[in-house]
Parts: sequence; structure tokens; C-alpha cells
Amino acid sequence: METLLRNDAPEEEVEGEIQNIRMSMNPHPAGQLEKNVPEHEGQILRGMQHKYDETILFFPAQGQTCHAFCTFCFRWAQFIGMDDLKFSSRDVELLISYLQEHPEVKDVLFTGGDPMTMSAGLLKRYIEPILEADIRSIENIRIGTKSLSYWPYRFVSDKDSEDILALFSNVTEHNKHMALMAHFNHPRELATDVVKKAIQNIRSTGTQIRTQSPLIAHINDEASLWEQMWREQVRLGCIPYYMFMVRNTGAKHYFDVPMAKAWEIFQNAYQNVSGLARTVRGPSMSTDPGKINILGVQEINNEKVFVLEFLQGRESNWVRKPFFAKYSQTASWLTDLKPAFGNDRFFFD
Ligand SMILES: *Cc1c(COP(=O)(O)O)cnc(C)c1O
Ligand code: SF4
Repeated sequence: METLLRNDAPEEEVEGEIQNIRMSMNPHPAGQLEKNVPEHEGQILRGMQHKYDETILFFPAQGQTCHAFCTFCFRWAQFIGMDDLKFSSRDVELLISYLQEHPEVKDVLFTGGDPMTMSAGLLKRYIEPILEADIRSIENIRIGTKSLSYWPYRFVSDKDSEDILALFSNVTEHNKHMALMAHFNHPRELATDVVKKAIQNIRSTGTQIRTQSPLIAHINDEASLWEQMWREQVRLGCIPYYMFMVRNTGAKHYFDVPMAKAWEIFQNAYQNVSGLARTVRGPSMSTDPGKINILGVQEINNEKVFVLEFLQGRESNWVRKPFFAKYSQTASWLTDLKPAFGNDRFFFD
């Protein structure tokens, strides 16, 4: 790409190379298109993912853009205008009808992109019908967002900030829990006055803010940064939630942190925070069979192993059963691992 740009290559050639790079980057890893998309009354629900029993992901069409365009984004395929690669739906009636048939679903998680790029009016059109449908089984509404870091004014001084906060209060008043799943990568993002004000405003609606971030080389691969970040989040009234391993979409080779090092970083940060910040889980890999947590490294019968567990599994009875893989200094994903103790498969294979 650099060569093409330096040589003023014609636009078609540049576009062609962009396409090649995209196609080499695995837009939807871990079986998201083939295995997660639910069906309802003979229809395939293209803007939803239902992988874990209790939670459905909904990708509102107008929220499939973002405040940030992170170089490590694992959802880049949502932004490039290729409709057959995109998760997107406008059909909240279809969602409601699916929820009524699936009482095992407790949480609806709006995601993207970033749903907080939508106006209050648009967001309302997705959330209020769910409240009005009065589906007893739905307990929690969640929104995944980078806005607290990237555009905290969304909750402070935008022209519809008050409507956003009123919408959050409305969820609480319907006896549902409203949770903002906030993406923060670095303590620097918590340093401004406006982010503190935004957190206060959101919390005043009864909404809880849970925080999550990938562990990314060159950006936050240092225990002291995580310690500082989790402590500051708790002090501001947020709940540390997930540390994620880098997925194999995008420039994984550049941002990757090996599992062994990731566990050390997590552990060193975790050991220095009080119990209030130990709500955080990780380092976790969002793999095809489920979210796999790296519990640690141990030596058992002279064999060095990783101790792992599912935090979420395609089968819920996989969750919380410790299992073992051969230790490796360089492994950075489940697919790099071999079962320990001479076994030829993991229990979930
Ligand atoms: C992470 C994730 C969820 C939510 O999991 P929680 O542990 O409940 O936060 C739901 N669906 C998919 C596909 C996910 O990757
Ligand atoms: S905030 Fe999330 S969705 Fe937005 S660009 Fe970054 S990683 Fe992608």
C-alpha cells in the first residue's frame, strides 16, 4: 500500500489493494456469521447474534459507525460499506418477537460500531418498544460504547444529552437494569473533567457503567497502567469488567500480547487493587467455543500448563470447569494451544 501511494498509483489499483488486505484479515472470526446468527419463524436475523443463552446482541442499523476508528478495531467490517459482511438491523419488532419466544434471554446488548453515535430519538425507537412490550424475562438492557472516552459530551452538553439521560432513567423506571459497557484502554482517557461529569450524569439515572478493554501491545501492555485504570474507574463509580486478548481480525501480529505475558500483566495489576476492583475478569479470549479465561500457569506432575476456564460457552455447562493446555511462551490464542497431559483433545472438542 505504501508503495502504491508513493507512486501515485491510480485509484482502482489502490482500491484493489485495500480489498486484498481486507480479505486477508478475517472480518468475522470465531464463527460469528456461520454459528451465532439466530433464526426465527424461518427468517435469518442478520442484525443479531445469539451465542450465549442469556444474552442477545443487536446491531442497530444507524449505530454501525463509531466515534473512534481504532487501529485495532475488531469490528472494522461494520464500517466499510460491504453489506454482505455487515451485522445490521432496523427491525426491533422482529427482536421483540424473538425475545418473546426465547425466555432464556435476560439481556439485550446493543452494539456496533457504537450505538451511542445515534441520536436520542433513534435510540428510543429501539429501546422503548422493548420496555413497552413488557417482556418479563428481559432484565437488563446494555449498550456497548466508546463514547465515554471519545465523546463524553454525549452525556453532558450535546443538544440531546438530557434526552439520552431521560431514556436511561426510563429503563430503570421500568424495573430493568441499564448497563453501559464502556470501552477504555488507558487511564489517560479518565483524566478529563468532562468524562468525570459524564460518569456522574449517567450514574444519576441509575445506570451502571462496566468497563472493558483489549490488552494491546504498544498501547497498554503494562501492569501499572491497568492497576491505575481499574483503581480510577472504581473511584469514579465504574465497575471493571473484562480484559480481552486481541482477536485474530485486523493487525493482530502488531497488537498481539502472548498469553503468558498477558496473564502476568493481569495478575500484577490485580494483586495491587482492592476487592472492589477485583470484579474484573481476564485475560479472556473470545473464541469460537466461548470466552476462555486464562486462570494462570502451573506445574502439575512436572508438566508446565496453562489453567483455563470458560467464562461463557456455546454450551452453558462448559462454564467454570477448569481445563489444561500445554504451556507455551508464544501462544496468543486458543488455536495455538495443545491439550496437556498427553490428551489429544480438549473436553469441548
Ligand atoms: C461477550 C459476549 C456476550 C456478553 O457476555 P457477558 O459475559 O455476559 O458480558 C454476549 N454475546 C457474545 C457473542 C459475546 O461475545
Ligand atoms: S471503539 Fe470499538 S467499534 Fe469503535 S473503532 Fe474502536 S474498537 Fe472499533
